[in-house]
Amino acid sequence: MFIVGLTGGIGSGKSAVSQQLESLGINIIDADIVAREVVELGESALDSIAAHFGNEVLLESGELNRAALRARVFAEPAEREWLEQLLHPLIRERIISQLQSSASEYTVLASPLLLETDQHLLVDHIIVVDVPEEIQVSRTTSRDQNSEQQVRAIIAAQMARKQRLEKADSVLDNSGDLYHLRQSVNQLHLKLLQLASESR
Ligand code: ADP
Repeated sequence: MFIVGLTGGIGSGKSAVSQQLESLGINIIDADIVAREVVELGESALDSIAAHFGNEVLLESGELNRAALRARVFAEPAEREWLEQLLHPLIRERIISQLQSSASEYTVLASPLLLETDQHLLVDHIIVVDVPEEIQVSRTTSRDQNSEQQVRAIIAAQMARKQRLEKADSVLDNSGDLYHLRQSVNQLHLKLLQLASESR
């Protein structure tokens, strides 16, 4: 099975690329969705989190209060590490099981943390969606409620653009309009089909 990792900074266009690849019949595993699944009600990780941080990180429904948990781990790096050590292996395990049951010609693992975690070890080919920082800021602020300052802080906390590009097997330049992106994705899709067939 040929597995393609898709990553990029905030607002680079990962979701836009994923949607288009999905419309071309490719199965997309979204690490953000998996990360939410592993802490759903009834999952053992949620019980571990509640036992560790107390009920203040739960909503009345018993579900995870993400904002409360985020505030706790933001203030305390050691707590953040504890949480990551709990969740990353569970996320990885679930990603692997979804990859194994995927049947499209190649499968995409879309993850903002592909290169920062050992998730990149699961993939055969790394695509980095790339735009200059000014475009990241303008597209993210028009998509979300975040201020420019908040978006710049998120960018500063993510891997540096140059470092990310150095790890790419393919770079998707998304500084043009959506029409251009569609053209680039179509072209890349053909290349990935070729690579997938060569790997069989
Ligand atoms: P990511 O998933 O990497 O955070 P998104 O795919 O959500 O990024 O893209 C960020 C925002 O920019 C979204 O609102 C998206 O619709 C928009 N966008 C993405 N690519 C383009 C483009 N080429 N031209 C204009 N807007 C775009």
